[in-house]
Amino acid sequence: MKRYFVAGLMCLMFAGPAFSKDNHKHKHGHKHKHGEKHRQLSAHEHGSGSFNVAIEGNKVAMELEAPGADIVGFEHKARTKKQKVAIAKAKAKLKKLANVVTLSDAAGCELEKASIELHIEGEDAHDHGKKKKAKHSHGHKHKHGHKHGKKKAKAEETHSEFHAEYQLTCSSPEKLVEIAFPYFKNFKGAEELEVSVAGPKSQKKFEVERKTGKIDLGGII
Ligand SMILES: [Zn+2]
Repeated sequence: MKRYFVAGLMCLMFAGPAFSKDNHKHKHGHKHKHGEKHRQLSAHEHGSGSFNVAIEGNKVAMELEAPGADIVGFEHKARTKKQKVAIAKAKAKLKKLANVVTLSDAAGCELEKASIELHIEGEDAHDHGKKKKAKHSHGHKHKHGHKHGKKKAKAEETHSEFHAEYQLTCSSPEKLVEIAFPYFKNFKGAEELEVSVAGPKSQKKFEVERKTGKIDLGGII
């Protein structure tokens, strides 16, 4: 009897906080589950990106998703030459994996393939529509007076994300015990990465911040 009682109590004690924690997670989850409105660009948090690693045999796949704010400092479509150059440079930088992560030398990993894409949400078609409507309703009284305000509002509406995918082959994947993130040095707007690593032994999540800079893969590989 006593045992049952204790077990029941434990259950209550744990069920409560665990449950609310779960709810909390759901509310702030920036990932794919909440993509009802915009599946590609779910509500991201500026400063925070995600980095996924999957290790299978001697193949390693890595994927980075980061807000444009973190990588180039803006999220609207590049308009000026300077902005276009910034995006081209960022893509080139991301294409070199060593600018994002460095891996234990002993693992003998080589980059086979890298692809970088920039997704911009809500530009072009939709925005043009909105602009026209806005002009119609406000058009006659204030002519061109509020350029700055308009620009700001538009920049806030638009979001962009860089998606980078890397495929590597490692001669000794079991020796991949550490991943460091030069990413933070190279991309000044980035503050943290939610890292998830799936290895042959287990799966683990890490929160890597600018200060931490690296993770230990002990027990995963
Ligand atoms: Zn954004």
